[in-house]
Amino acid sequence: MYLGPRDHRSVSRIRILRRAIRPLAVVILAVTAVTAISAQQQTKNVILITLDGARTQEIFGGLDEEIFRSTNKSFQKTATYKRFSAATAKERREKLMPFFWKTLLVSYGSIAGDRELNSSVQTTNKLFFSYPGYSEMLTGQAHDDVIKSNSHPQNPYPSVLDFLQKKLKLDKDQVADFSSWDAFERISTNSPGKFVINAGYMAYDSTDKEIAGLSRAQFETLPAWNGARFDYYTFRFALAHMRKFHPRVIHIGFDETDDWAHEKNYERLLQTLNMTDGFLKELWELVQTDPTYKGRTSFIITTDHGRGKTIADWHDHGADVAEAQNIWMAFFSPDVKLRGEWKDAETIYLNQVPATLCRYLNLDYSDQNPKAGKPIEQLFAE
Ligand SMILES: [Zn+2]
Repeated sequence: MYLGPRDHRSVSRIRILRRAIRPLAVVILAVTAVTAISAQQQTKNVILITLDGARTQEIFGGLDEEIFRSTNKSFQKTATYKRFSAATAKERREKLMPFFWKTLLVSYGSIAGDRELNSSVQTTNKLFFSYPGYSEMLTGQAHDDVIKSNSHPQNPYPSVLDFLQKKLKLDKDQVADFSSWDAFERISTNSPGKFVINAGYMAYDSTDKEIAGLSRAQFETLPAWNGARFDYYTFRFALAHMRKFHPRVIHIGFDETDDWAHEKNYERLLQTLNMTDGFLKELWELVQTDPTYKGRTSFIITTDHGRGKTIADWHDHGADVAEAQNIWMAFFSPDVKLRGEWKDAETIYLNQVPATLCRYLNLDYSDQNPKAGKPIEQLFAE
């Protein structure tokens, strides 16, 4: 910390000291106070990961036989069924997302949103589709009267990424949003250009030959839908960026969980959840071995909206789809002791994400938006 004038050229030392003494006393007090609060606070970096429209049913229950059957009468003969089926919900979800359930949630964090255990996570927006969901998640507040279309132009409201960049005085590469869906260029900030956003089909410049090759390949490996590239590219670019620039604030937005559901391709949906679990494992291994991140990085992993629960509407979501307000949220942090599944808990909301990310860092998001959801206190209760 810089406490006084650095340049002694034209001012005598005594004058400098006299001027410096009063502010110095204040600074010492302030430093002591901050140390007291942050004595146990380890978090220096925050990572937000989103799995677009991933249903609570698959997250908590794994493969859903009824839905699989509705998409393929011979579903039991598929390799996907043989791989992910099991007798109980616990076994099925552990087959589908083994790293998430058997390592992360056992040793490092907790998950809310399993309604069978009386834990519920909901959006406060009433629209239950992506732009309103991500805007609520990133700005801390739903604006259903303003943000009511996925083609909404630039977000008029600043995000938690904007806030943390300012508050932590981070340069352009130290705040990053890597997302498969191109709309994040519009959603993640109200003032584009200040931090890295690599979203949709967008080149990622790299001197690494493999990454440069992937950057070219994304334009020539086209999925069935428009506006979003395959998650594999998003993940590889995010990881390359983390290795090189060590951003302290990151959002990684996966999209295929939503896209395959809209395609009513249940096999691909299951395979995608399993692939994403592998991404989480690889990311976790980087975080555990890189000195910037090791023991100093807190996560929220969540989704922007739920979907229907019946064979008629599991693939869909929106204001007219019953149950699409129900989501899930997972937390991994060296500063949080909770492990496993939340039970008999008060409902938490998507608009609490920014304040909670800030709370991990001992910052107060209400400085930017007093109307935003509050930090999720259950995480920090002793
Ligand atoms: Zn969708």
